[in-house]
Amino acid sequence: MEKILLHSCCAPCSGAILEWMMANGYEPTVYYYNPNIFPEKEYLIRKNEITEYAKKLGVPIIDGDWNHDFWREKVKGLEDEPERGARCLQCFRVRLYQTAKIASEMGFSRFTTTLASSRWKRLDQVAEAGNWAASQFPGVEYWDRNWRKGGLQDRRGALIRENHFYNQLYCGCEFSMRGLAERMARQSEQAKKDEEAAREKIDAALQSISKSA
Ligand code: SF4
Repeated sequence: MEKILLHSCCAPCSGAILEWMMANGYEPTVYYYNPNIFPEKEYLIRKNEITEYAKKLGVPIIDGDWNHDFWREKVKGLEDEPERGARCLQCFRVRLYQTAKIASEMGFSRFTTTLASSRWKRLDQVAEAGNWAASQFPGVEYWDRNWRKGGLQDRRGALIRENHFYNQLYCGCEFSMRGLAERMARQSEQAKKDEEAAREKIDAALQSISKSA
């Protein structure tokens, strides 16, 4: 059995990958290192969920630090970048550099990440960050695999439903939270417009009934 260090961003993204690895001759160890997540309350919800889930599966889990100030320093100047832009690439580099470092220190020859399972992330950026991180530690390789393929995307959805995983509303950092607030404002604006349109239709229908009565 090959030991693999699996960087995990959360339980929903990890479930199908862990299941597949365990059924296919791999021995995963989860590494939870996500200093990007903000605020701390959100971080703890996500961390506690994957910790409980790994325990349930009997998979070891290593808890990384929540050094959010360090992460903010690393993305300085990229705060206004859109999601899937330069800030996200840098965010992946921070998380995967630390993963490669732990892999090297603990004797894992390969690591991979659940970031490569989310359809909201750019796979090319994840691969670039993973390969760069591995190149910093001789003897450590990044396992560049598309974790959405081979039925894993469907299985991911099924496991989320089965386990009632926490419904994350934004990617993780405060800047993605801002994006969520903007999306919600747009939705509520649209809801208001829909309500007004519905009222106008009802008024018109009532008028035509009263005319014909
Ligand atoms: S949007 Fe997500 S991937 Fe991008 S910087 Fe924020 S937490 Fe990282």
